[in-house]
Amino acid sequence: MTPHPWNLSLWRGLDADRAHLPHALLLHGPLGVGKKIFAETLAKSLLCESPTAEGACGQCKSCHWFEQGSHPDYKLIEPAEKNEDDETPAKKGGRHIAIAEIRALGEFLALAAHQGGWRVVVVHPAEAMNIAAANALLKTLEEPPANVLLMLVSHQPRRLLPTVLSRCRKVAVALPEWQSAVDWLRLQGQAEPESLLREAGGAPLVALEYADAERLARRERFVEVLAHPSAAELSSLGQEFQSRLEEAWGWLTRWAHDLIRIRNLADPRYFPEQFEVMRGLADGASLSGLLRLEQELRQSGRWLRHPLNGQLLLESWLLRYGEVTRAENARASHG
Ligand SMILES: [Zn+2]
Repeated sequence: MTPHPWNLSLWRGLDADRAHLPHALLLHGPLGVGKKIFAETLAKSLLCESPTAEGACGQCKSCHWFEQGSHPDYKLIEPAEKNEDDETPAKKGGRHIAIAEIRALGEFLALAAHQGGWRVVVVHPAEAMNIAAANALLKTLEEPPANVLLMLVSHQPRRLLPTVLSRCRKVAVALPEWQSAVDWLRLQGQAEPESLLREAGGAPLVALEYADAERLARRERFVEVLAHPSAAELSSLGQEFQSRLEEAWGWLTRWAHDLIRIRNLADPRYFPEQFEVMRGLADGASLSGLLRLEQELRQSGRWLRHPLNGQLLLESWLLRYGEVTRAENARASHG
């Protein structure tokens, strides 16, 4: 277990300065930059019986326990009830860390360290704590036991209580440089890292998730229909993707964005490989219609997790897309 290459120097700085670590760290940054691995690697190294300059030794009893997920001085707190349906946005948004888990943490911290050294707690992601849980955690942050390191990992630190934030040392884990992310994705066996990384907004671990073969096949199907938008195909697309509203929304929004860029003589940002076909579509489309569609899609973004009727929403967007892209053709044929 090592931090990702782009986090290595930040990680080494903290690991080497372990004598001066505060009671609480807030590791914050965008989703998919390796914050959790960063926290876990630091925890493992602090708990290791003979750490080296590279971190945990990987050989001692403590490292062994850590790898088994059974270290008595380590606690990882995450939202409960992971089920196989975890992909659906509503459930993802609904999972949280409840107060019972933070109370159990209090009991854990009331005991002396099993190994007589550090005790380490990782809360991931910290914004998943509900208000009651966050307030319970605050008590621990206000009176931290000795030799305890609390690591709050957060993708959205603005959603944390200010009182919690103010008691943590903030460590920003940023997006890696573009090229280093591309190189890393290549090392993971990705043949087209740039396209994945663009779609993931530069976050390498999100890009890697996007590389899933089934998702790539869905993307190909979706893009194929957008590239040749017949009313019948758009309508069946609405049905096929009714349970994948967030995914479909993301592709359609980026696609519309690229068409607008092309109309404005800019290069497409997300679908450069589709440039030729997109140029034809953009030329024939109604620019004001595209702008309205893109605006509407962006405004719908916040409803994605709790759509009243996802299928209806998606079908209406796709219908509009079909009308907008056929606007000129329709006008031409009507005379
Ligand atoms: Zn070790």
